[in-house]
Amino acid sequence: MTSIIKSDQLSSWLETTLKTFVVAGPCSVESEEQIHKTAEALSAHQIPVLRGGIWKPRTRPGTFTGIGTEGIQWLAEAAKSQSMKSAVEVANAKHVEDCLKAGIDIFWIGARSTVSPFVVQEIADALKGTNVPVMVKNPINPDIELWIGAIERIYNAGITKIAAIHRGFSQYEKNTYRNIPNWNIPLELKRLLPNLPILCDPSHICGSIDLIPHISQKAMDLNFDGLMIESHYDPANALSDKDQQLSPAVLSSLIDQLIIRNTDSENSEFKDQLLRLRKAIDKIDYEVLELLASRSKLVHEIGLYKKDNNITIFQPERWAEIVETRKKYGAEIHLSEELILDLVKLIHRESISVQTKVMQNE
Ligand code: PEP
Ligand code: MN
Repeated sequence: MTSIIKSDQLSSWLETTLKTFVVAGPCSVESEEQIHKTAEALSAHQIPVLRGGIWKPRTRPGTFTGIGTEGIQWLAEAAKSQSMKSAVEVANAKHVEDCLKAGIDIFWIGARSTVSPFVVQEIADALKGTNVPVMVKNPINPDIELWIGAIERIYNAGITKIAAIHRGFSQYEKNTYRNIPNWNIPLELKRLLPNLPILCDPSHICGSIDLIPHISQKAMDLNFDGLMIESHYDPANALSDKDQQLSPAVLSSLIDQLIIRNTDSENSEFKDQLLRLRKAIDKIDYEVLELLASRSKLVHEIGLYKKDNNITIFQPERWAEIVETRKKYGAEIHLSEELILDLVKLIHRESISVQTKVMQNE
């Protein structure tokens, strides 16, 4: 899959005096006093961008749905009074229009909007001719095409100041996380669009404050370009997402403790050592590929036997046996169960596909 986005046409726009770019502020703007107090406290900790939800996409009705249009001015003024930039989530053309009128500096598209090409296109059309920075959260479902599609719609509207925000993905089963991170998806986005900045939103991934430092550090370790974190001057009394909002002081100490790693090193000893280890890895990877090719030949041969003897491709007992024995052996040689399960499922899927081709004479 390739993207229409020309990486060199994206402008870099994340500026900060902190060790990484941070967008912080309440889940929702609640009152003039709340947003001013929060802005003042965040600015004392050098946070460059003040976020605030004006219209809240709540999962169930009957909860606080945001203060609405009158809050935009409060947010814009609170940010301005502290020399911060302001950021608001927009979900339709009217939101864009109201925010542009109030001089909001940065816009973001929420996870529930990214899933809808109609909604994203409406926002993109309303933004035409502005070149305001736009941050695009991942869609709630783990679909990278949908995420890229939304980014492309914004890019096609002439916006060059874009960033992606990774906020995790919905799931049916209850989990440690409010939204599971699925880190491989934002990493794949970075591979496909290397010049696109990507922020992590640990607040919506975690859903509660305890895991936020861990997820923030992990994002830094994975070379993310910044963080969007919910922060309220009085989290216990927040009208939305109160379990996941940090006080500005706690947020500041989290930032202080973040370790920012280098992407490269000039140290020749480190470089030599890395090269040596990578060469050894390359050799092993080619051996693994050759073994997979030999395995695939055997799978093909078995396919012919099954066909001649009119036997089904899928054999549930054999499959169950493979999973159990490989899991057991994997544990003995200290490989994670996650790796073994992913690997055997992938190999099995390929075997089914090889034998299907044999059966159908393809
Ligand atoms: C938010 O940032 O307040 C928000 C609603 O987030 P998301 O779109 O990630 O659910
Ligand atoms: Mn929120």
